[in-house]
Amino acid sequence: MNDLSDNDLSGNGLPQTLLAGYRNFMSGRFTDESLRYRELAEGGQTPETMVIACCDSRSAPEIIFDTRPGEIFVLRNVANLVPPYAPDGEYHSTSAALEFAVQSLHVKHIVVLGHGRCGGIKAALDSESAPLSPGDFIGRWMSLVAPAAEAVSANTLMTSGERQTALERISIRYSIANLRSFPYIDAQEKKGHLTLHGAWFDISTGELWVMDRKTGDFIRPSSE
Ligand SMILES: [Zn+2]
Repeated sequence: MNDLSDNDLSGNGLPQTLLAGYRNFMSGRFTDESLRYRELAEGGQTPETMVIACCDSRSAPEIIFDTRPGEIFVLRNVANLVPPYAPDGEYHSTSAALEFAVQSLHVKHIVVLGHGRCGGIKAALDSESAPLSPGDFIGRWMSLVAPAAEAVSANTLMTSGERQTALERISIRYSIANLRSFPYIDAQEKKGHLTLHGAWFDISTGELWVMDRKTGDFIRPSSE
């Protein structure tokens, strides 16, 4: 059990659910994996896989892939998008994380993980319901997929659910194409040292669909 007193966890207003979860973590997973945590602290992290996922509270890659501490290097942003390579002196958090993962950690895999019912993708498809003015951060960010969103929105043969899933998967392919615009990612992939993957998680069924790297189609893994 944990040896922290209640005073240590008074939290100064931190939500009680977080404090309770932390207690469980300390008495459970941290205790169970204390040796691994110590090794990771002393030896540093050497994750072989980077996962780019959405901020959505339902699509946490560590939970979906049941990973241990130190196993995956995770970047989360709205709608799991990768912008094109743009060394323009601006603040690029996604590009900074990519640079660190590839240039310093030398990850062998990058997985772009999309998910069903993505609010960012929904906003990109439904310009009337969303704060999509160019001055808003989310509007500017989601404009990355605006051309695809317009094309998908124009398809009246599809239901709204089909359009949503289509754009979620198109945006994964788009992000993978943008990954290749980073010179060092392109170079590492061509040398065979780095593999780029796409995956899409259905939060209602738990199904994971994996992108076929040749065709771009999303298929269920054969092991299931
Ligand atoms: Zn999302």
